[in-house]
Amino acid sequence: MYCNQCEQTFRGSACVDIGVCGKDVDMQSLQETLLYGLKGMASYAHHARRLGMVNEAVNSFIEEALFATVTNVNFDMESLFELVLECGRQNLRVMEMLDEGHVRRYGAPSPVQVYEGTKVGPGILVTGHDMVDLEILLRQTEGKGINVYTHGEMLPAHMYPELRKHKHLAGHFGGAWQKQKSEFAQFTGPVVATTNCVLIPREEYKDRLFTTRVTAVPGGRRLSGEDFSEVIACARKCVPLPEKKTGESTIGFHHSVLLGVAGAILKAVQAGQVKHFYVIGGCDGAEPGRNYFTDYARHTPQESFILTLGCGKYRIRDYDYGTIHLDGVGPVPRLLDMGQCNNAYGAIQVAVGLAKALNCGVNDLPLTIVLSWFEQKAVAVLLTLLALDVKNIRIGPAAPAFISPNVFRILQDKYNLQLTNGHAGCQC
Ligand code: SF4
Repeated sequence: MYCNQCEQTFRGSACVDIGVCGKDVDMQSLQETLLYGLKGMASYAHHARRLGMVNEAVNSFIEEALFATVTNVNFDMESLFELVLECGRQNLRVMEMLDEGHVRRYGAPSPVQVYEGTKVGPGILVTGHDMVDLEILLRQTEGKGINVYTHGEMLPAHMYPELRKHKHLAGHFGGAWQKQKSEFAQFTGPVVATTNCVLIPREEYKDRLFTTRVTAVPGGRRLSGEDFSEVIACARKCVPLPEKKTGESTIGFHHSVLLGVAGAILKAVQAGQVKHFYVIGGCDGAEPGRNYFTDYARHTPQESFILTLGCGKYRIRDYDYGTIHLDGVGPVPRLLDMGQCNNAYGAIQVAVGLAKALNCGVNDLPLTIVLSWFEQKAVAVLLTLLALDVKNIRIGPAAPAFISPNVFRILQDKYNLQLTNGHAGCQC
């Protein structure tokens, strides 16, 4: 850990123990939780702004909360903890704006089957999370004989009618971010990385890796504006892609779709056809222990739905979970892909909607939330869930390193937050 008071590093013990500045490790932990939550929230706010959605109260909170982390401003655990929770509340508003921005611009999402693999001819692969970049690229490649594919967290683009109306949005290629080095090497056309999580490219594809705006990697080609002509020229020069279908997936279970059939779901719950709901998803990663999520999903009972989002879905989707027949709707897959980590708002809306329909609180629902942790948006989402007083959440495979054992204990006592590996607190 790094002390932002005295600029010393320390591991797992209070600064006071090593006699540097006397700053308490738990305050340091809360400040860092706030900072990471703000980073995640700023990413969502940036995406929302690109969709024309801005909120002055949110911007003002970001300034105020950042100010609270400045040297010698706040040494008070209680008010820091309140700021951490407020970050979660403000993030709910940001996620709502982002959801609204996507729906306003790209239409009401609906379930759709997506071709996975490549089609013969030149192609461009788009990774990251930014739908606006994809939209602009689709317009600029229209009628040019170049296919556009989604990668990783861009898969949910296909659920929006205004994006999938472009016939050359030909399908999806690849999985979670940690596999991109081998996947980008296999994809012979240019790759456009619109946001995180992009890795430093291998030699073999770095000259055809483009990044947009804030996203940049050594060796890659950064585009600062909205002109994709360099990418299009590269696609024409690259080796064309082969016809190779690797599968098909059903996505697009946006919260509006699920809440649209809430009556049928409720009936199934009352009839005992559905006994439990799981939210399993979040950020995937490469470290050991992540098979927990795969095993967990596979052991869920047949009478349950699994809601998934984020690239954590790639851990659990290569398995046939079967369907549940809903009266008046028909067979519905047990595994429901709600979208990107940017669609986390949807899972919250479904939980709140179910609680309302069943006339109970979210914590009384037959609902288990199992979140895989990796980057800052996951922190912001966790803070939102805690601010909504959602209890019994499991996170893993390990606690974020900036959560001190004491802060983790507070979260356990207050919210029964649990780790998937069964350990408590920081293991730094
Ligand atoms: S879900 Fe998280 S880890 Fe995965 S690509 Fe999105 S931000 Fe990165």
